[in-house]
Amino acid sequence: MVLVLVTWCAVLGLVVGSFLNVVIYRVPRHLSVISPRSACPSCGAPISARDNVPLASWLLLRARCRSCHERISWRYPAVETGTAAALALVAWRLGLHPDLAAYLVLAAGLVALGVIDAEHLRLPTPLIAVTTCAVVALLLSASAMIHDWHRALVATVAASVWFGLFLGIHLASPRALGRGDVRLAPLLGFSLGWLSVGAVVVGFFAANLVGSIVGIALMTAHRLERRQPIPYGVFLAIGAGVAILFAPQILSPWPGLRGLTG
Ligand SMILES: [Zn+2]
Repeated sequence: MVLVLVTWCAVLGLVVGSFLNVVIYRVPRHLSVISPRSACPSCGAPISARDNVPLASWLLLRARCRSCHERISWRYPAVETGTAAALALVAWRLGLHPDLAAYLVLAAGLVALGVIDAEHLRLPTPLIAVTTCAVVALLLSASAMIHDWHRALVATVAASVWFGLFLGIHLASPRALGRGDVRLAPLLGFSLGWLSVGAVVVGFFAANLVGSIVGIALMTAHRLERRQPIPYGVFLAIGAGVAILFAPQILSPWPGLRGLTG
């Protein structure tokens, strides 16, 4: 049963990932994600349905446009495969539970936001707003379905705390933490808080630990200057992923914290 669900979500992830490629290219350029149809960035030829099958078309066309034979970036299949993996992992972790839809939407939103932040060093507000509204609405419906409003309460408190904390850091040091990260904070606080207080703690520390390790590694390799801004949204997304998937396992060795993952 779990295998069927995981497979189904992986296939869904390929299709969603294909759409996220459109979002990732167009949203930072202020273009509509609905029209016009996808076209080759080199020659402008519209991409036919048979050439728009996630992953398969890229492999069959050997990473080249059918009309101009220009190379198609590896990023397209990478986003599709990455989204498939993210959705499959979320399904494996949560199973067929009323909150599954919310975390699938969250995972898709964070893939798009993470890739955009890595490329453009910003998190588009409309994308944060759409993801936040969808995830909060789905989690509130899940609370209603399982008659558990305590989770929604913890989620609201976590969202407020995380927002206040990030706003404080941003005001103290705007260079360290951008406005986009502050806008993203309530979404992460709410979705991790709905799972458990432990997930909020793990998400916060995992984001900063991974961010510090990557930052120091890049500085050591002279790929990053000390005062150069880093795409913090990428690490927030990774931290949230770690928390959703592994918070109970990470906190289990500490008796004092174990209770937080209930
Ligand atoms: Zn072309």
